[in-house]
Amino acid sequence: ISDGAPIVIIGTGLSGYSLAREVRKLNKDVPLLLVTADDGHSYSKPMLSTGFTKAKTAEQLSMADPGKMAEQLSIDVRTYTTVTRIDTDQHIVRIGDEALKYSKLVIAWGADVVRLDIPGSGVGSVFSINDLADYRLFREALNGKKRVLIMGAGLIGCEFANDLRVGGYDVDVVAPSETALTSLLPLEAGESVAEGLTNAGVRFHFGRVVTQVDKSEGGVSALLDDGSTIETDIVISAVGLKPRTVLAKNAGLEVNSGIVVNRMLETSAPDVFALGDCAEVDGQVMLYVLPLMACARALAKTLVGQPTSVKYGVMPIMTKTPACPAVVLPPRPDVKGAWTIEREAGHVKALFNDLEGGLHGFALTGDFTPEKQALAKLIPAED
Ligand code: FAD
Repeated sequence: ISDGAPIVIIGTGLSGYSLAREVRKLNKDVPLLLVTADDGHSYSKPMLSTGFTKAKTAEQLSMADPGKMAEQLSIDVRTYTTVTRIDTDQHIVRIGDEALKYSKLVIAWGADVVRLDIPGSGVGSVFSINDLADYRLFREALNGKKRVLIMGAGLIGCEFANDLRVGGYDVDVVAPSETALTSLLPLEAGESVAEGLTNAGVRFHFGRVVTQVDKSEGGVSALLDDGSTIETDIVISAVGLKPRTVLAKNAGLEVNSGIVVNRMLETSAPDVFALGDCAEVDGQVMLYVLPLMACARALAKTLVGQPTSVKYGVMPIMTKTPACPAVVLPPRPDVKGAWTIEREAGHVKALFNDLEGGLHGFALTGDFTPEKQALAKLIPAED
């Protein structure tokens, strides 16, 4: 690995730290510098939506501070340091006026939350929760409050709804979709999760959007597009995430929905790689932990001189909605086929078969979820 400059990793989320850990398993000496815009604490992001169920504050969710990570992994960590530009010809990342030379560069800077442009005097009470700092602010704002309105009924919206109910909050969910989790689950399975959450006390308002949030006596008032209002204290916006791509595009890297990389995690520029929420690997953006772990293992080998392409294996997604748990293994986008649905006592088993009858995906809710292991074994491995 060339010229004494370190491998620079931008980001200390699960992608950045997992990659550093995997590199260290293979090579104790190669210099690694992690640069992060945030405080560099190591934490498991999926725990943000189980804070009440697991009784964790932001401080308790932090597993290690950057000093400890630096010591454990023999790495350098620069915190509160935002990369502003990348010059791939000169192998330099810029932090304002400062230039940092890299031998190889790994972009692991994650995704941004989608922010809706909602007017009103109460927008200061609208929170998005995508990192530990967001979570800390949200938990502080919740102090002494009773009611939460969640915009969005996707994975994150439903998980927060369940968690806040467990925490004793009064929860409304407003979403334009027909039911819960429509981008992840077949309709019937989404309905099953929505029913479980409804039975736990969550109030869904499907087919609706929030158009304005105004301060009101003792809280905020959310105006919906049918003219109705919901009185609440705090609004969570959970309407989606989009890979961070602007700096990559400015650097001339190929960008689509995410930063375009192949199975070797190579971007279109030499010695520049990407993984995690910011990356579009072989045509797919996957905003989950298992894919980024597989990518970290493969990329670590490549970085220490053993070129390796990522293979995923079977990666079911489990929702953290104990009111009605769900697990889904979405079919690969290129497989043609159809879902068949079985229902029992409000729980759903949905199987996705190809035209020859081969199983390529499944979605299970409630009492069907224990079948996931047996079904996962029937899914064909990747080529
Ligand atoms: P991030 O964790 O976002 O890290 C990005 C890093 O880059 C940060 O350190 C940031 O400061 C830094 N950065 C950004 N821009 C710059 C810059 N210009 N310069 C320097 N540093 C920069 N997935 C699952 O598989 N299962 C789950 O149950 C699950 N639950 C979730 C629950 C919630 C509430 C959320 C929000 C996500 C959940 N996910 C889950 C998704 C999963 O957590 C993410 O896919 C994963 O954590 C992404 O990690 P990352 O390191 O790629 O990005």
